[in-house]
Amino acid sequence: MPASASGPAQGYFRNIYDTVKSILTGMKITLRYCFSKTVTIQYPFEKLAFAPRYRGIHEFEAEKCIACDMCAKACPVDCIYIDKSAPRKIDKATGKAVGGELLRYAIDYQKCMFCALCTEPCPTDCIHMGKNHDLSSYTRGDMVVEFTELDRKGLRTPIPLWVERNAATIPWVAKEKERLEKGILATTEADIPSV
Ligand code: SF4
Ligand code: SF4
Repeated sequence: MPASASGPAQGYFRNIYDTVKSILTGMKITLRYCFSKTVTIQYPFEKLAFAPRYRGIHEFEAEKCIACDMCAKACPVDCIYIDKSAPRKIDKATGKAVGGELLRYAIDYQKCMFCALCTEPCPTDCIHMGKNHDLSSYTRGDMVVEFTELDRKGLRTPIPLWVERNAATIPWVAKEKERLEKGILATTEADIPSV
């Protein structure tokens, strides 16, 4: 009967060995990461790096929009709303749209999936994917961005709440706020460089 007596004892010690081994293996991995370079950053105190082709909240040049609806037709989720008082066309002398008034150009960010399909057919190149990503707000209504109203304030894209709140204390956010207030497109010279 010695064989049957050693069976449970062997299993008991085997379990202890396996448990200790797996704990040590886990601790070894944890310790290795404790001393390796961190991959996270303290955003927004540190600036996030964006890929050059990052697709964020749109930037819209209302003065070039001829309200042709091409972007709205290309949108797979029908989240672009356009209204005009009469047909518009580009004045070749100024490069700006003339004719009827652009009454509304709005995008519903509850539905937008940032696919950029709206930017491709635009004949006047006036709708762009920007670099801002955070459009947090207190109401669902705020997720519908009225670009024509922003244009009346000289803006091409909304100024996010976090930019408003952190501009006074974080230098790079202050610079970003200044760019937004001046209506400078992120996709050109004001692009956010990699850190
Ligand atoms: S990015 Fe895509 S989903 Fe968003 S408005 Fe443009 S076409 Fe529509
Ligand atoms: S495709 Fe361009 S010009 Fe036409 S409605 Fe859309 S943003 Fe305006």
